[in-house]
Amino acid sequence: MNMIPTEVRALKPADYKSAVKPVWCPGCGDHSVLVAFQRAMAELALPPEQVAVVSGIGCSSRIPSYTSCYGFHGVHGRALAVASGLKVARPDLTVVVASGDGDGFSIGGNHFLHACRRNLDLTYIVMDNRIYGMTKGQPSPTTESDWDTAIAPGGTGLSPFHPLVIALASGANFIARGFTGDVGGCAKLIVDAVRTPGFSFVQILSPCVTFRSDQQKAWKSLVREAIVPETDDPARAARRLMTDDGFNLGVLYRGKRLPYQPRPSANLTPSHFESEFAI
Ligand code: SF4
Ligand code: MG
Repeated sequence: MNMIPTEVRALKPADYKSAVKPVWCPGCGDHSVLVAFQRAMAELALPPEQVAVVSGIGCSSRIPSYTSCYGFHGVHGRALAVASGLKVARPDLTVVVASGDGDGFSIGGNHFLHACRRNLDLTYIVMDNRIYGMTKGQPSPTTESDWDTAIAPGGTGLSPFHPLVIALASGANFIARGFTGDVGGCAKLIVDAVRTPGFSFVQILSPCVTFRSDQQKAWKSLVREAIVPETDDPARAARRLMTDDGFNLGVLYRGKRLPYQPRPSANLTPSHFESEFAI
């Protein structure tokens, strides 16, 4: 065991690994997100005890137990609610929230809107495989309308949710997209997201090799570095995201909103809490 305190030794990606072995399917994109997260934390030189990873439910939401940081594997769709409470109570912590497209955009869709609007200093990573992986492959909010399966014969016929457009319209301060085929690129985006104040949303295209075996190969040929440089102008970003095909990678928007800081109420003093909640 390394007994040198974290504040005096250089941190390596391995310092963010826990002893728990991931149970993800071999080849699942989520393995790469875990590696990217560990690289990003080492690059940021954040001691594991100063980082909290909060998740909901789903394959991707298993990630907190695979890191040595504080973690909370929570309730379906409620990761952002838990993380918001944590960040308000402990603004000194770096809070990273992990989710999937089902957990984050369907069950947790309402929390997503309001987390963007509130703009607390959180980093929200959504591992998007356009499917509910843990529950055996149902279409999710980001599934293509014509994805033909036994569960949805002929496709759902529903337009997919565009999370980046929704994030921009709701007030997120940083919007980016990565692909697990480029772990270094994902790590860079996570570093950038953590460093940018306010609510940072990073969608990571993370193939499900078990229920969507078509994805890995197809996405590899479709993704590209976004050629238009990032913008801080919401109107320009909106025009660009409305025509985005879902495969432009990189930072697509970085705003200038200051993060939300709860103001102490004149009516709620520490002594109020002591008397209210004294046991
Ligand atoms: Fe990954 Fe899909 Fe397996 Fe879940 S079911 S661990 S998303 S490959
Ligand atoms: Mg999913």
